[in-house]
Amino acid sequence: MYFKQLEIGPMQNFIYFFGDKDSKECVVVDPAWNVDAILNQVEKDGMKISGAFITHGHPDHINAVEKLLQKTDCRIYVQKKELEWLGWKWSGLKPLQNGDIVEIGKLKVQAIRTPGHTPGSQCLLVEDSLISGDTLFINSCGRIDLPGSNPEEMYRSLESLKKLKDDILLFPGHNYAETVSSTMGSEKKKNPYLQFSSLQEFLSAMTR
Ligand SMILES: [Zn+2]
Repeated sequence: MYFKQLEIGPMQNFIYFFGDKDSKECVVVDPAWNVDAILNQVEKDGMKISGAFITHGHPDHINAVEKLLQKTDCRIYVQKKELEWLGWKWSGLKPLQNGDIVEIGKLKVQAIRTPGHTPGSQCLLVEDSLISGDTLFINSCGRIDLPGSNPEEMYRSLESLKKLKDDILLFPGHNYAETVSSTMGSEKKKNPYLQFSSLQEFLSAMTR
């Protein structure tokens, strides 16, 4: 598998590239800030970009989508709920439902809807890696005090991610921690937002 993590822009965003080394097809996750840096990276790596996944619609994750669409004919994979919330009219939009599988060459990607930070946030499971957007961070989770946020949904999304195997690698949407990746096993042990045993406990801690 082709996989790359790149920090980009003033808000410490991580964007990701992954794809099929045999067919050379790849996608970018959360194209933002600098479309030339994105396309140069793909070219340097000898890959061809065919699409973009959007973990969620906040500007720091999508502000290069329009430029990307001017320069390529990428498909844009986003959760249907996020699309309904934001009403984008871009070309190439491919609305996804929870659990949908997308094939990039021979590589299979599973989209897991994880609302809470936004109504249609999604995480992407690519082989043994989870790209978690602003849902789960290393030692933290995404903000739930923004328009479109929902604390109860965030709790349920975090609970569902806790079911992933311990050896799954975690790749978050921002470089906010001391390391650039983690494992689900380590987060299940140490991340304070994965330690709550009930919705009530989570809500009272979050609204304190
Ligand atoms: Zn966000």
